[in-house]
Amino acid sequence: MLSNSLVELDRAHLVHPVASYRGHERAGVRVLKSAKGATVTDATGHQMIDGFAGLWCVNAGYGHESIVEAAARQMRELPYATGYFSLGSEPAIRLAAELADRAPGDLNHVYFTLGGSDAIDSTIRFIRYYYHSLGKPAKDQFISLEQGYHGSSTVGAGLTALPIFHAGFGVPLDWQHKIPTHYAYRNPVGSDPQAIIAASVAALRAKVEEIGADRAAAFYVEPIQGSGGVLVPPPGWMKAMRDVCTELDILFVADEVITGFGRTGPLFACSDEDIVPDLMTTAKGLTSGYVPMGAVFLSERVYQTIADGAGSAAIGHGYTYSAHPVSAAVGLEVLRLYENGLLENGVKAGARLMAGLHKLAAHPLVGDVRGRGMLAAIELVVDKERKTPLPAAADPSRRIFDRAWDNGLVIRAFGNGVLGYAPPLCCTDAEIDAIIDRTRRTLDQTL
Ligand code: PLP
Repeated sequence: MLSNSLVELDRAHLVHPVASYRGHERAGVRVLKSAKGATVTDATGHQMIDGFAGLWCVNAGYGHESIVEAAARQMRELPYATGYFSLGSEPAIRLAAELADRAPGDLNHVYFTLGGSDAIDSTIRFIRYYYHSLGKPAKDQFISLEQGYHGSSTVGAGLTALPIFHAGFGVPLDWQHKIPTHYAYRNPVGSDPQAIIAASVAALRAKVEEIGADRAAAFYVEPIQGSGGVLVPPPGWMKAMRDVCTELDILFVADEVITGFGRTGPLFACSDEDIVPDLMTTAKGLTSGYVPMGAVFLSERVYQTIADGAGSAAIGHGYTYSAHPVSAAVGLEVLRLYENGLLENGVKAGARLMAGLHKLAAHPLVGDVRGRGMLAAIELVVDKERKTPLPAAADPSRRIFDRAWDNGLVIRAFGNGVLGYAPPLCCTDAEIDAIIDRTRRTLDQTL
């Protein structure tokens, strides 16, 4: 017999992503009811600025009628079209072309997925097939960064380097390798940008040597590591890693699932440093979270090698919902909105956000402030000199999240005392200032 209370129904039936099931059962769900612009309202009528754009995805902000219209129009006209059997739909074809036109370099070929995890899975399949086509099937070892996040599928979770995605799941797999990250605030080589770049380059070289150049396939990187705590590499780091991948003959994969679509300023963060990856993944901001969609971008070399390698045989990789026409129609409209003011506003709002967070650096709890554009974090410590983290036993992140919520702000409170920010690009000056004020109030209550 089902209870009629939503909280009880949730407790009894809905399995939540990345949650302590027992902790969630005790705490109970908070139900979000509606949203407009950068403001979300819960079922009790409490209003908050969504400082995290859902899950770093609602880049355009909530309540755009034109996006709703685009989806509804497409659902009325053609709610589904498969890409199998050489079929297609107009919005999917147009979106692929528009994206290819804007992607870095010669990333001219777009494969649509449902989100980021299956985009990462797809890159692994494409890369394996690429080397198979080149007659180098032994190149089957994959490298990623400590504190990286590349999704939650079995293979993606193995490229991910966050312990909760591994423990109990039998990953990473034996062909998945990690090298240390660039985390400037807590880096054994110190915070000097050149030292950090040199250490990362040396670590990648050493890892490829250990694996064997004839075995190493690809290196995965987020232009800014998101779920690892918004870790921003020093300027020049991406370029140095790209160059060393070229030199070592391994593919460079940029995972732009968070950083894409204006989060750091431009449409793609790779453009910040003039990087052209061999493959690139996106999701989240692609449809601004209104409907699910992800995309893998393939360079000419990768695409043409795979196509030639297969010849007339079918390449056995595809999903029922690849290039879903409704998601594609939403993607086209979201792209139009980005280019009609949203990206520009995001750059302005991002500068204000970063300036506001830097002012919080004087607060006794704030050890580090980092970010770029509308993607930022502050790292809380109890002792600035020693960089002592908040005591984990008291579950500070849950308490800070709750306090911020009561203060009218949704933020991401990572378990290690890092507070993450990724507000919608549509934020006004007043909303950015409110994010900073409400954070300050939350920190004062945490002292
Ligand atoms: N890659 C990165 C960098 C991500 O941040 C995420 C999700 O947060 C993913 C991949 C997985 O995306 P999804 O949750 O859409 O499967």
